[in-house]
Amino acid sequence: MNETNTQYGGRPSLPMQGVPQPKRDEVLGLPRVHISTHPVMAHKMTALRDKNTQPPEFYRLVKEIGMLLAYEATANLALESKDVETPLERMTGQRLAGGIGVTPILRAGLGLAESFREVIPDAQIWHLGLRRDENTLQAMEYYNQLPHKVDLQVCYAVDPMLATGGSAIDAIKILKVRGIPRLSYVGIIAAPYGLLKLSQTHPDIDIYVAALDESLNDRGYIMPGLGDAGDRQFGTF
Ligand code: URA
Repeated sequence: MNETNTQYGGRPSLPMQGVPQPKRDEVLGLPRVHISTHPVMAHKMTALRDKNTQPPEFYRLVKEIGMLLAYEATANLALESKDVETPLERMTGQRLAGGIGVTPILRAGLGLAESFREVIPDAQIWHLGLRRDENTLQAMEYYNQLPHKVDLQVCYAVDPMLATGGSAIDAIKILKVRGIPRLSYVGIIAAPYGLLKLSQTHPDIDIYVAALDESLNDRGYIMPGLGDAGDRQFGTF
């Protein structure tokens, strides 16, 4: 975590100080929110959170957790019939009906985007750069590689930490303008505050996370969380 973050005159910025936050059990029943209950996920999450887990191992775990999340988040994709010839006879199989898009919110979402590519190699990757201002926690767009031609059945906005919800809310807004029929958010850890905000702002999307934590601290970090997901993936401490 970057301890040099300051607002004016070297004072640390505390944007969440005094902001009321919902409790964990107040958001557990939100519609279209999926929190993983898989034991393998819980096992990997503990290793991911450990402060002694170094960036190469951390990135590997993000990708493994991301593959489990991708598996869960793609469980209701639409299929269409496709004829196939096995070595023995013809049969009618199935294939995904329409393209799949993945929008990693830079830079922390890159690991999760890799996971989706492992599960669905055909997925299109639409990079979106949103940086949160550490003082106001507002998301600011600085990079956008979304194509103009859209032919997707679903697009997944991926970002590991759903903290205040600002970046996820803005990413979904940007994707909605493209007219994609279905949108989902996929993350690793959510705070109740960000989960509620995202769900209330975009009640028409599905939200998939591996874990729901307790709260945000005064600086907007998820507690107990895992620290800064970007720094821990890319070794920039
Ligand atoms: N972003 C992170 O990387 N970690 C947090 O705890 C919150 C936002």
